[in-house]
Amino acid sequence: MCNAKINIMTASTLSQISTYSLENQNDWQFEMQRAITDIDELRHQLSLPNLDAMQISGFPLLVPRPYLNRIQKGNSRDPLLLQVLPLGVENVAAPGYQLQPLQEDRFNPVPGLIHKYHSRVLLTVTGACAINCRYCFRRHFDYQANQVSQAQWQRAIDYIANEPSITEVIFSGGDPLMAPDKVLARLVKRLETIQHLRYLRIHTRLPIVIPSRVNSAMLDWLQATRFKVSVVLHCNHPQEIDEHVVLGIKRLHDAKVTLLNQSVLLKQVNDSSQTLADLSYALYDAGVLPYYLHLLDKVQGAFHFAVSDAEAIKLHSELLATLPGYLVPKLVREIPGQPSKTPIFNIG
Ligand SMILES: *Cc1c(COP(=O)(O)O)cnc(C)c1O
Ligand code: SF4
Repeated sequence: MCNAKINIMTASTLSQISTYSLENQNDWQFEMQRAITDIDELRHQLSLPNLDAMQISGFPLLVPRPYLNRIQKGNSRDPLLLQVLPLGVENVAAPGYQLQPLQEDRFNPVPGLIHKYHSRVLLTVTGACAINCRYCFRRHFDYQANQVSQAQWQRAIDYIANEPSITEVIFSGGDPLMAPDKVLARLVKRLETIQHLRYLRIHTRLPIVIPSRVNSAMLDWLQATRFKVSVVLHCNHPQEIDEHVVLGIKRLHDAKVTLLNQSVLLKQVNDSSQTLADLSYALYDAGVLPYYLHLLDKVQGAFHFAVSDAEAIKLHSELLATLPGYLVPKLVREIPGQPSKTPIFNIG
């Protein structure tokens, strides 16, 4: 499903290449086109002859090379590799792990819009992502039904215009920055006509996966908007932050964007207090504050990433005991029907 959309994206982005000329604006789109989708190629690139992996239908391997470059060669347990490597275990059903763990269709009043919490709505700007994270809770989401064209955004805009309690729009996906800047700039302009909207938030992993996505076309619309803008990055491990990522973040920072990060707590990837503390410092050094540490959503195919509640609370307590408060992310999980993400506390 995701693969089909990425193909569509690639075809449509090809036609746009001629429209930009400055500064390799399309660098990130070329990176998408030459992303690794073949396991033998991955095996070869990482010098891992005995890579235990398989193609998973519906949610295939997808790793752009700028991310691949941060995976340690010869290390089959590399924490970045484990996030992208499709394993046979994903096909095994586990009790309690569902196709739609968040039941978002219940909060989907018009296509492309999820209104679950007071004062903010989420727009699924595109179903495409730059990378296929194996633990992703959206891996089975019906993006086809929520694939919204320019014209269809009118229903979402009307919905927001009729709900004065909504002050913030969140661009999500997929990864919203997979949409071309022209599309994003136009959508922002249309949203700006709604007087009660004040805040724009972008939830994205692209500045981590392909740092060149933070290009001047993007900075142009970010700086032109009247909205107060925040970007919530999705970085799970300090090794994901290289000098290119730092440069992209600096550009966002210079554009007066508030920078936050959310991570997912993942077994064998970042389930150690040392790794999480290192991540907090690496983010802060780059100009980003930790926001959320999510417990894994129980999505089918991801149970091998699960960390128990007891272990998560222990790790979080260790962070509280060692880091300044502003570097400790809130430990949360998403429970359908709750008015917010649900904080997980040590009540022992
Ligand atoms: C997480 C989420 C939000 C944002 O919640 P915050 O607590 O403000 O970060 C909004 N809408 C949906 C559907 C979400 O899943
Ligand atoms: S980038 Fe985000 S939405 Fe896309 S696959 Fe990864 S976790 Fe899921």
